[in-house]
Amino acid sequence: MLLHELALDPAAAPDSAPALVTMDGTWSRGDLRAAVADLARAASTVTRPGGRVAIVSDSRPEVVALLLAVPAAGRVAVPINVRLTPDEVVGQLDRTGVEAVVGTEEELDRLAGVLPEAATLVTRVGLDPGAGDISLESLAAAPAPALTDPPGPDDPAWIIATSGTTGTAKGAVLTARSLGAAVATTAAARPLAEDEVYLYPFPLYHVSVYNVLHALSRGRPVVLPRRFDAATICALAEAHRVTAMSLAPTMLRLLLDHRAAQDDSATVLADLRTVAYGAAPMPPALLAEADEALGVAFAQGYGMTELSGNAVFLGPDDHRRGLAGETHLLGAAGRPGPGVELRIVDDRGGSVAPGGRGEVCVRAAQVCAGYWRDPTATQAAIRDGWMHTGDVGVIDGEGVLTIVDRAKDIIVTGGENVASREVEDVIGQHPAVSRVAVVGVPDDRWGEAVCAVLVLRPGTGHDAATVRAEVLEVARTRLAGFKVPKRVVLADDLPVNAGGKVVKADLRRQLAGRPAGASGSG
Ligand code: ATP
Ligand code: MG
Repeated sequence: MLLHELALDPAAAPDSAPALVTMDGTWSRGDLRAAVADLARAASTVTRPGGRVAIVSDSRPEVVALLLAVPAAGRVAVPINVRLTPDEVVGQLDRTGVEAVVGTEEELDRLAGVLPEAATLVTRVGLDPGAGDISLESLAAAPAPALTDPPGPDDPAWIIATSGTTGTAKGAVLTARSLGAAVATTAAARPLAEDEVYLYPFPLYHVSVYNVLHALSRGRPVVLPRRFDAATICALAEAHRVTAMSLAPTMLRLLLDHRAAQDDSATVLADLRTVAYGAAPMPPALLAEADEALGVAFAQGYGMTELSGNAVFLGPDDHRRGLAGETHLLGAAGRPGPGVELRIVDDRGGSVAPGGRGEVCVRAAQVCAGYWRDPTATQAAIRDGWMHTGDVGVIDGEGVLTIVDRAKDIIVTGGENVASREVEDVIGQHPAVSRVAVVGVPDDRWGEAVCAVLVLRPGTGHDAATVRAEVLEVARTRLAGFKVPKRVVLADDLPVNAGGKVVKADLRRQLAGRPAGASGSG
């Protein structure tokens, strides 16, 4: 099954049913089907079979249509992170050998100075009327060359860049088969109810977009804000009676803060029944707060770009157990979905017994086809069908996976290993702390010193010195001495990437330039 066949399966809902709902109006499934047919023609007019089509846009129905249409035409869609600098975008276009770039007027203007430097680029196509060399509309109206070689489920469909949290983003090649497998696993592990209205707040260039495929494939409407903004999300949720959302932990934090600031807070997010979260570790304190405030069921997914979506799930029942006192479950990633094999391996590639730490490896049909034109990186990551995730985890006797940390974020201090995440979980429970990131910074004595960077919650009336002292006090009572931060730095904000994750490499760079005692704001 190709992606447009999966998303627009007529057995799931009639063409009159809503597909994509935005601030500006609703596309029915029939509207989306027609747009996919038009845009598939457009894609085959501007590129050769197998050619790459970049998409540079905020979240709009046209982008969803392009993500389905480009592979339907036997071309490869390359959705681009609009938060990248123009030079970074050109780097990505060159690495993927893009032949056409489809973008909004705003994005094409932003890239105007640098696009000619992209070696392989031939055409700029405007999503908005008047932008680019040629408009999408006129292309869609033109007759298209016949499809000589119809696409198959194992052809590259999308090249999605990883979030670049640990280094330069890599282009994961996803296929209709890998994405279909991720959708099937998710549908089985975390089914959508018959009457679900699903809101998708992540950018469409992030792998979590497979959730949009999932909802559409089940005939459910997708509410699509142009970008994440707490006020807009709450307004859309109210207007369209949204029952389910996917959220990164930072997004949940912002929604709760927005809700608490409203006079009629009880009416905000009132129809919401399920919050699915993932993408980064969820502080247990935040989960407990959200449970209290919203009274929703929680579902967690653990996955990665290279897995075409989520592969491991912690469902509402495990959350209820966790919130009722089995607290280890709240920090867990969950259980493998149907068809997913999990293994924990040591440095030499041997299996680690239950309860032991090691690298999380996943084997499933949803593993990507590899990194785009990078056989060395592909062979290093995928061996015998096993995706080596770069995450350190533990599987307990019940088969529940807990992510300890990313291998690259483990801090080695005085010969001891410290999982940054464990320290974050403890410090994040302080009521005045809005967000916290813990990183290792180079240190003459310890090799690396544990450093905590805090963003304070506004309006709690705590002064910086008191919070710093209290945070250290909590850390000292709850953590072994070597895990207690040697430095506590207050900041106005944390560097966060488009997926809502703290970019610790940036944080380490920022901290490396500061004297050891520095602790001011900013
Ligand atoms: P890069 O690979 O470029 O450094 P990235 O790994 O952040 O970036 P993604 O593919 O978007 O790019 O993210 C996958 C990673 O996100 C996982 O390997 C894991 O570290 C983290 N992650 C995803 N889901 C969860 C979760 N539920 N709990 C904890 N961590 C998670
Ligand atoms: Mg990664």
